[in-house]
Amino acid sequence: MAGNITFTMIKPDAVANGHMGNILNDFIQGGFKVRAMKYTWLTEAQAGAFYAVHKERPFYGELVGFMSSGPIVAAVLEKDNAVEDFRKLIGATNPAEAAEGTIRRKYAKSIDANAVHGSDSDANAEIEASFFFSALERF
Ligand code: GDP
Repeated sequence: MAGNITFTMIKPDAVANGHMGNILNDFIQGGFKVRAMKYTWLTEAQAGAFYAVHKERPFYGELVGFMSSGPIVAAVLEKDNAVEDFRKLIGATNPAEAAEGTIRRKYAKSIDANAVHGSDSDANAEIEASFFFSALERF
């Protein structure tokens, strides 16, 4: 059965460009409930650890540099079928290929600075949520 939580980050580009409020509104209008949320700024070491699964990919260094370049919003969101439905709401990794009306299409400019993160599986949603939030910070 599909799980009911996903983990997201509003990435440094979207925060810097003033899209934080609109993106949070899109999450909520999309039927997601906020279960945990924080505004924070990752160090390079923290961004490197979060994206360790991508260590072998050619863009890993750029990704870590970008994700530690400014503040982000991290959140745990709840909805039935959360992981799949959230990836539909945000759209394809490359905003140029993202469907009309999706968050990446509306607020992202490039494949690296693509406005939002969304977990790719139920197992990763839990791992990523635990990376940022203790049990005491999830409601
Ligand atoms: P996602 O699950 O849609 O976020 O995509 P991936 O898991 O494939 O990639 C993780 C993140 O790495 C993406 O959201 C982008 O921020 C970044 N990324 C993906 N492809 C590229 C690329 O070709 N170049 C750079 N610089 N970053 C990339």
